Amino acid sequence: MKKVVKFGGSSLASAQQFKKVGEIIHADKERKYVVPSAPGKRFSNDTKVTDMLYGCYRLAEAGKDFKKELAAIEARYQEIIDGLALTLTLTEEFKVIEKDFKAKAGENYAASRGEFLNGKIMAAYLGYEFIDAAEVIRFKENGDFDSEVTNQILKERLDGVERAVIPGFYGAYENGVVKTFSRGGSDITGSIVARAIKADVYENWTDVSGILVADPRIIDNPEPIDIVTYRELRELSYMGFSVLHEDAIFPVRREGIPINIRNTNKPEDEGTWIVESTCQKSKYVITGIAGKKGFCSVNIEKEQMNSEVGFGRKVLQAFEDYGISFEHTPSGIDTMTVFVHQDEFMHKEQKVVSAIHRLADPDSIDIEADLALIAVVGRGMKSTRGTAGRIFSALSHANVNVKMIDQGSSELNIIIGVTNEDFEAAIKAIYDIFVLIRL
Ligand code: ASP
Repeated sequence: MKKVVKFGGSSLASAQQFKKVGEIIHADKERKYVVPSAPGKRFSNDTKVTDMLYGCYRLAEAGKDFKKELAAIEARYQEIIDGLALTLTLTEEFKVIEKDFKAKAGENYAASRGEFLNGKIMAAYLGYEFIDAAEVIRFKENGDFDSEVTNQILKERLDGVERAVIPGFYGAYENGVVKTFSRGGSDITGSIVARAIKADVYENWTDVSGILVADPRIIDNPEPIDIVTYRELRELSYMGFSVLHEDAIFPVRREGIPINIRNTNKPEDEGTWIVESTCQKSKYVITGIAGKKGFCSVNIEKEQMNSEVGFGRKVLQAFEDYGISFEHTPSGIDTMTVFVHQDEFMHKEQKVVSAIHRLADPDSIDIEADLALIAVVGRGMKSTRGTAGRIFSALSHANVNVKMIDQGSSELNIIIGVTNEDFEAAIKAIYDIFVLIRL
């Protein structure tokens, strides 16, 4: 068995956290490949090292003095080194970083140093080999991640390497220039390494005991999800779940490797399993509830729209012409509604409205703002009757007016549109009926 273990920033924010991580790794000899993030927050109003690096580099780029800021970053690492009683020193590394900052090596390079340095400490602490991600994670010239070349390089590099530390979040172009993934990208690195070595499990260690059925800012102490499929998670992530970087699913998905989300501060908890498919039913029929505010609906009416071939295409053309992506398009006989992100649409609304008139010649167009979309996701809905009925009776009891309903043909999710105002009440009502009352 081989496991890849990725530790997030809060799991590596201090020497004390590093020690917990060390214990977790030593507790299972299959935890062979370690992907660290940069040190995160030690307390709630602390600053992540990645943000300190961005700030410091902004000064460097503006030609201002950045010594004090760089020294504060060095102190964060030194505190960890001292707390772990390591003999390692990062003085040389910081000299190089200072020189590179002065030479304006770029924001990506600057941010990547957070993981690079933490990887050095982790390798020294564990006695594992350090492998610089710039040598093994490759980006294409257009900035996209090069999955196939990376997979090849990594496979060859890790062949015969028993145990290694590979920093998360960054890689490089073929010419060696460093590039990072988007924020939270160490999750992707862990997934890439897991794919390359065909790991049995990709363990992603963070500061919560798995993925929760609903957002804890809306529901008090929501239940954790034991097991969720890649597809369910994709739906939930798209609608706002943020435990794992959205793109972290793709590499492991290709090899069917399960992801196990675990809590560094409660290693005894089983956490959440993210798998390709399972015969295990969700405890509550639904797997999770996610949602987002800030949508607009554009309602278009035209008599006998249903018999006009190409009407929908013409309407959507107007959105495409102005670079606006649409979320959902429920329709009636003489009406069609297009849901869009309000912030994207707001500045272009009048242009889009005239384009719809020009292209599709509707009778009227009516825009409604401040709407929210809620996704009720669950692989169990397919084989359970009455799920939609339960959702809508719960919403009506909670006095929530449903503006839109959309059930995908996969029967994996039901999307509900409500006003921004009703958003929290709607999520509570759905959570209660399925999880608390379990009607
Ligand atoms: N350190 C980076 C960030 O704060 C990447 C990561 O933690 O995954 O976004």
